[in-house]
Amino acid sequence: MKGRIVIDRELCKGCKYCVISCHRGVISIGKEFNKMGYFPANPMYMDKCTGCGSCAEMCPEIAIEVWASDNNKKKT
Ligand code: SF4
Ligand code: SF4
Repeated sequence: MKGRIVIDRELCKGCKYCVISCHRGVISIGKEFNKMGYFPANPMYMDKCTGCGSCAEMCPEIAIEVWASDNNKKKT
């Protein structure tokens, strides 16, 4: 199954929980500050995303939306 994520860079605190939790290596930390002064996470390799939802479940800031592309339904 293919998936897609959207990260709200202004909610992100750069904790890297999503980076660690993604078994596909989709997410990395960006190089530009957000308004809060954190380096937010970036979905870098979206073609590898399976839509499993692990990253969103781990995110303490609820900054990640996950979409499953089998029916284009929002998962989390
Ligand atoms: S939904 Fe799963 S595969 Fe996609 S970025 Fe999140 S943890 Fe990785
Ligand atoms: S888990 Fe959430 S707050 Fe932490 S780096 Fe990822 S998106 Fe940002």
